[in-house]
Amino acid sequence: MSYPTDQLPDISSLGGEWTLATVPEVAFGHPVQVGRAMFPDHEWPYEPAKCTWDQGTWYLDGTLLICMGCGTDGT
Ligand SMILES: [Zn+2]
Repeated sequence: MSYPTDQLPDISSLGGEWTLATVPEVAFGHPVQVGRAMFPDHEWPYEPAKCTWDQGTWYLDGTLLICMGCGTDGT
């Protein structure tokens, strides 16, 4: 799942900032907004709605999981 978009953890210590992305919600089929981390000079290989990546990386002492395909919060 993911953090509510108004409760995303501070990633300024990682040099990033949050944007919002709209993705289809699998269980109910309607679009939902999730946080998408953006870092300077880095482009994610996928757009969130088309992401097929299934691996993330943990940040912030294991409290934040970011998808390495599209940068969305996958915590
Ligand atoms: Zn992704």
